[in-house]
Amino acid sequence: MSQKCPLCPSMTQTLFHQDKRRCYFRCEHCYLVFADPATRLSPEQEKAIYQQHENSPHDEGYRTFLNRVVEPLLARIPPAQQGLDFGCGPGPTLSLMLEDKGHSVALYDPFFAPNDAVLKSVYDFVTCTEAIEHFYCPGKEWGQLLRLVKPGGWLALMTKLVKDADAFSRWHYKNDPTHVSFFSRETFCFLADRDGLDVDFVGNDVILLRKKTA
Ligand SMILES: [Zn+2]
Repeated sequence: MSQKCPLCPSMTQTLFHQDKRRCYFRCEHCYLVFADPATRLSPEQEKAIYQQHENSPHDEGYRTFLNRVVEPLLARIPPAQQGLDFGCGPGPTLSLMLEDKGHSVALYDPFFAPNDAVLKSVYDFVTCTEAIEHFYCPGKEWGQLLRLVKPGGWLALMTKLVKDADAFSRWHYKNDPTHVSFFSRETFCFLADRDGLDVDFVGNDVILLRKKTA
């Protein structure tokens, strides 16, 4: 294999897993596992799948799910902060939960809230829940997330983490064709070290990163 890792510039990767539909490669530098870029869906196919997601602010189960990131974030930020929910999807809910607690939250989503103006500001916190695994160009999108966070501010992520090849082979998470970038603890530790962040793993799929002050 000689293709560039979509997250870091490394050209070294190994075949991590193969199933009926796709091959998955692992970068040996940042440990990102990524689906073969040749098997990506078109934007139209992608959007059609997201529109079937029935996440809504009226769904208590969805609120409980999001609370896994909301609670630890609220415990770390002062009152009345300015945030951005990046990848809010068709039924923004996390933003309402944080606004109920006195914060203000702008919305961005390439399909459902394509408001590029909000990407020109910087924020006390940026949330990105169940979105980073959809990133086709995670290196570029990671850079964008970092630029949106003020020094001392927080990046609050939710994504399920890769454990090992054996667990991956049985993992339903990889079967969603819109999931293309699979992060692990090692990947977040690599990024935190490279980019000047403190990383805190909260539970299995919640990652809080704080941008260091100069
Ligand atoms: Zn890499």
